[in-house]
Amino acid sequence: MTVMTAKICIIGSGPAGLFTAIKLVRHGVDDIVMFEKNSVSFGGLMNDCKLNFDHRIGMDIEELQLTESEVYQHLAEIKEVFKNSGYCTKVTDPNAPEIKKWIDRFAVHDMELVVAEQFHCGSDNAKHLIRYLIGFLEDKVELRKRTGIEEIEFDGEKFTLKDSYGDEHFCDILVVTPGRSGAYWFREQARKLGIKFRFGEIDVGLRVELNAKVLDPLTSKIYDPKVKYLTKKYRDKVRTFCVNPHGRVRLEHYDGFKLVNGDALMKHKTPNTNFAILQTIKLTEPLADTTRYGRFIAYSVNLLGDNTPIAQRLGDLKRGRRSKKSNFYDSTRYDCMPTLKLITVGDISLSYPKRIMDNLLEFMEQLDKVLPGIMSDSTILYAPEIKFYDTRYLTDKNLKVEGFENLFIGGDGVGKSRGIVGASLNGLMIAEGILKLLGKN
Ligand SMILES: Cc1cc2nc3c(=O)[nH]c(=O)nc-3n(C[C@H](O)[C@H](O)[C@H](O)COP(=O)(O)OP(=O)(O)OC[C@H]3O[C@@H](n4cnc5c(N)ncnc54)[C@H](O)[C@@H]3O)c2cc1C
Repeated sequence: MTVMTAKICIIGSGPAGLFTAIKLVRHGVDDIVMFEKNSVSFGGLMNDCKLNFDHRIGMDIEELQLTESEVYQHLAEIKEVFKNSGYCTKVTDPNAPEIKKWIDRFAVHDMELVVAEQFHCGSDNAKHLIRYLIGFLEDKVELRKRTGIEEIEFDGEKFTLKDSYGDEHFCDILVVTPGRSGAYWFREQARKLGIKFRFGEIDVGLRVELNAKVLDPLTSKIYDPKVKYLTKKYRDKVRTFCVNPHGRVRLEHYDGFKLVNGDALMKHKTPNTNFAILQTIKLTEPLADTTRYGRFIAYSVNLLGDNTPIAQRLGDLKRGRRSKKSNFYDSTRYDCMPTLKLITVGDISLSYPKRIMDNLLEFMEQLDKVLPGIMSDSTILYAPEIKFYDTRYLTDKNLKVEGFENLFIGGDGVGKSRGIVGASLNGLMIAEGILKLLGKN
């Protein structure tokens, strides 16, 4: 067993961890070790990388205890880093002349269109972008790839981390930014460490894939349109998320099940567009644990799909029947072929709760009024699409955990962000907290 000591340890190299490290290094802090259980940054940076620079998207400023102007100061710093990389292109300008017309069209049908300043990097640029970001870490940060942290212990002063090789690491300051894939793991550690938390909301929904022609008129102006709607039947909140014009549907691997997601490449375009429609779910008693509920739905779909997500044609769902392999891929019948191959063709309504299905279909019908073609029989629905970021830990303005002087947490895995820019913002907040602690602010 090896024993190692560092001033600062960071668990997770996604945008939250990376931006913590970048800011610390920029302020002359060294002796930092960053642990990553995969190769570097398996999170969103390795994926599509659409960047939304708007306080209404991907963050909850009340939860973060920030004012709008504080947020925009941080966002300017993040934008500068991404823009200077040369790998990200501005794809949406909220001040473009056509935008107002689109906002009005959605408003007529009781929907809100939120338009943010948006950049896109694309999965094909991801490796270059990550290499660029890692360049900021110089020799001040030791990056330990493929080294998962399994246990966190605290003796009242220092932290001990036990990694997947059985080695131990001591540090004075600990930053935990484990992303959604590490959310469940961290919750167990938090319980052990006596960190207080409450359950927040999760998003459960579907990935929708259709012929790109349906959304082209909108996505050519607004790359990733964010539409919000309150359903009439249940008064539940639904929204579009992660629109990928001419993109691909992707698999996301979790411990014990698979989810669907989507991305788009900068250089290779498909004839399809995909996007998520999500319902926000909050539970009270007797079960407030939304993660357990979300995992139950994910297991249920994976069970029926023989350990694979399920895909269904909207035409079949509308008629109350399962989709069948024999005609699912018939291009004379449908104008959109699935970009995700590892799927089981079946019936989503067998494993999704009725209320969720009702809400999502009502939302799609509403969207179809502005973008005719969404309700086409060809449209493909994929499940499960679930966003786990529901456990809310009590933290201060620098994401320092209540009851600890030297423990900071951030990013999607601890419910403080919902996207790359929000997670990067968390990183900057944490770095500022550490700089204060080190007397360097
Ligand atoms: C396919 C896909 C496409 C996406 N596209 C977009 C997009 O276009 N725009 C957008 O804003 N967001 C997108 N997202 C969401 C985005 O990835 C996240 O919001 C963002 O990455 C969160 O950053 P994070 O730092 O909190 O976590 P992550 O980026 O998930 O990073 C956390 C890291 O911690 C590591 N880790 C976890 N536990 C441990 C442990 N115990 N020990 C060591 N390492 C550990 C993980 O391997 C991971 O690399 C996408 C996500 C996916 C999956």
